[in-house]
Amino acid sequence: MFLWHTGLMPATFDCIIIGAGPAGGTAAYHLAKGGRSVLVLEKAQLPRVKPCGGGVSPEIAGWFDFDLSPVINTRVSRVRYTYRGRDPVEADMGTIEPLWMVRRDAFDAFLMQQAVARGAALREGCAALGAHFRDGRWIVDTAEGPLQCRFLVAADGAKGPMAKWLGFTHRKYRVAGAIEAESRGKSTNLVHLDFGTVINGYAWAFPKTDGWSFGVGIFRGKQNQDLRKILAEYGLRLGLELAECSVEAHPVLLWDGHQDLHTHQALLAGEAACVVDPFTAEGIRPSIFTGMKAAEAVDAALAGEFSALPRYSEIIKREVGSEMIWARRLAELFYRAPGTAYRLGVKHPAAAPHMARILVGEARYSELAERAIKRLVQGVVGG
Ligand SMILES: Cc1cc2nc3c(=O)[nH]c(=O)nc-3n(C[C@H](O)[C@H](O)[C@H](O)COP(=O)(O)OP(=O)(O)OC[C@H]3O[C@@H](n4cnc5c(N)ncnc54)[C@H](O)[C@@H]3O)c2cc1C
Repeated sequence: MFLWHTGLMPATFDCIIIGAGPAGGTAAYHLAKGGRSVLVLEKAQLPRVKPCGGGVSPEIAGWFDFDLSPVINTRVSRVRYTYRGRDPVEADMGTIEPLWMVRRDAFDAFLMQQAVARGAALREGCAALGAHFRDGRWIVDTAEGPLQCRFLVAADGAKGPMAKWLGFTHRKYRVAGAIEAESRGKSTNLVHLDFGTVINGYAWAFPKTDGWSFGVGIFRGKQNQDLRKILAEYGLRLGLELAECSVEAHPVLLWDGHQDLHTHQALLAGEAACVVDPFTAEGIRPSIFTGMKAAEAVDAALAGEFSALPRYSEIIKREVGSEMIWARRLAELFYRAPGTAYRLGVKHPAAAPHMARILVGEARYSELAERAIKRLVQGVVGG
């Protein structure tokens, strides 16, 4: 399907990016567009499966100069909430832009295709096996031999080894677990979110033009619930048979505090940088944002700006971390007493449009969360 760039490889790349997910694809696109020599190593063959609901904030459109509509599977502007399958509330999101739904195999491959069209090189089916810093260069080991670069971006996701190899042995994150099923068939144009069925998490069903992505995730506390069984029961409520779906589980690294994301001539981006929203588990938008900022930082560092990499860490703290503090506060309260939170928070007429505005990028947690938290605190403390 793709014409991957196979031209002459430089002996030393300006940058090697590990991982061709949203973070890696974005970083590669922006670096290649700026004329930098960049290589992406991806251990899978693209398009590859990534367990994911595929709900994407349209805010990302502003971070690219190409049209993403070929991979927007559908756009949704209505949501249906339930508590343990009952007490439904349906609401219009009321945002200017609807929420996008994508299939991750197509979405991620498309981003990479754009990067390749700008001159990025891609090696698929080629895992990074180790990384060492020598004589001012990073050497990345692969089964095809060592590769050299001046800067390294680790965008290898929640399960990748890069952060450890680069010396980030004490990253701050909260490990969450989620399981997702992809069904093919008829769908309705409605996002389903259910609370209370899963302890410390939620169940979702996101529509696609040709089916559903439905799943359950646990975002706090112990993970000893039988997620597959819960998912099968949740699917049945929606008329979806788990046995007919492809099902995959995957860890999620939720944001859990500010931290430096740079080291010597290397950066962490995307989920490797633990930037997933601790309330909603939204990871695509923050991964793309960090990929874009990582590219800007590497570009500036290549131009000789010594402070470019520390500045990257500061930007992510300021732009992402300051918001995630609010998301974590909401998560702490919400998942502690989901019944009360559902009654006082989710069912409140302002809740759906406020949450939707945050998700599509028309508002920030910092603008809207304080009032919601006050309401929840009063409800939880007052019983
Ligand atoms: C079940 C589930 C549902 C989710 N639903 C949503 C949702 O609806 N919306 C949302 O915004 N977020 C969602 N998320 C989170 C989102 O999927 C992730 O945060 C996002 O994929 C992170 O992007 P990334 O580019 O950092 O990493 P990834 O997308 O994980 O990509 C990392 C890539 O690195 C490659 N790699 C790993 N190790 C190596 C190596 N050694 N060498 C070479 N390549 C390597 C992997 O093969 C992979 O392709 C969900 C997560 C889960 C688990």
